[in-house]
Amino acid sequence: MRSWIEVSRSRLRSNFEAVSLLTGPGVEICPVVKADAYGHGAAEVSRVLTVAGARWLAVSSVAEGVALREAGIASAHILTMADRPSPEMLSHRLTPVIHDLADLDLLAAPIDYHLKIDSGMGRLGTRAPAAAIVRAVAAASARGVRLEGLMTHLASAADYESGQTESQLARFESILAALPVAPRFVHTSATVPVAYARCQAWQTMVRPGHAIYGYISPIVRGAQSAPARQLDVRPALAWKAGILAVKDIPAGEPIGYGAIARAGRPTRIGIIAAGYADGIPHRLGNKGFVIAGGRIVPMLGAVSMDVSTIDLTEAPRLQPGDVVTLLGEEGEARIDAQQIARIAGTISYNVLCGIGARVAHVYVD
Ligand SMILES: *Cc1c(COP(=O)(O)O)cnc(C)c1O
Repeated sequence: MRSWIEVSRSRLRSNFEAVSLLTGPGVEICPVVKADAYGHGAAEVSRVLTVAGARWLAVSSVAEGVALREAGIASAHILTMADRPSPEMLSHRLTPVIHDLADLDLLAAPIDYHLKIDSGMGRLGTRAPAAAIVRAVAAASARGVRLEGLMTHLASAADYESGQTESQLARFESILAALPVAPRFVHTSATVPVAYARCQAWQTMVRPGHAIYGYISPIVRGAQSAPARQLDVRPALAWKAGILAVKDIPAGEPIGYGAIARAGRPTRIGIIAAGYADGIPHRLGNKGFVIAGGRIVPMLGAVSMDVSTIDLTEAPRLQPGDVVTLLGEEGEARIDAQQIARIAGTISYNVLCGIGARVAHVYVD
């Protein structure tokens, strides 16, 4: 195999259980498995999480929800967070998220929906006043289109210097208070408000994505005033690539496209079977690292579409057919998606979702 990911089922399970233990009974956990479960493979991740007790899953699109139903995810509720109402929502028992009161008219009864409030993020969600929301919810309910959840999304949860989270929660709660009865599920938290125990935002459901896969973003501002992180999770995914060729090149020779690297010394190079088409950020050219033979070694030259070049001078025993770790652990050496993202000038989410479709998936216990 050229390049593959190894996803640990037990890590997915223990990350889910860590969220469950922290939030406690009374808070439903809706793991987010959009974007092919952040590159981990939505069908298998959903299987593992539902067996571990998840009764809800969240996806972005109707197509993602339909794919899960077709993969045999039969009983979990599937929340469709970022798509338009469509007949498949009814036929595949997907729970719509409504972002605009006018869209309620597009739902055929009987169906339960969640209504998203734009509480100040300036993205999806209705900005209608409370009275208009109450009227629209009542009118829909009269014909069997029932409000099951009220939700919003926080724009700056990791910023403890901004007051945006408090003002978003206040706006959201004023809408909630205007409803004659609170819906069964009220939810505002992705990973960060869970991990830093902003309990006010937990309400009766949380929507962690990143944490399920073993990541928690650091506080971006105001870390001194932020509460300590309460959640412990570990990356569930390791990413490997085979070595295609090994060779020794003399000092001064160019390496790869554009000759952006030159061997500073007699160098043993390894050509590995993963490039930007597999998801290695092109920006890692001459800047990235991989684990080879248990040690961290640099990438040399530009990342190509199908291959990348690494420095094996310090790992001379590695041969064609051996395997290196692009992301993961070998003994003491480890590289995670946040480190890769920092070097590439992006975010860990982007690194995980960027793992290419042709990278094989292997599931381990
Ligand atoms: C993606 C997403 C989440 C999950 O966010 P994480 O930071 O990965 O936990 C939660 N809610 C909504 C609306 C999302 O789009």
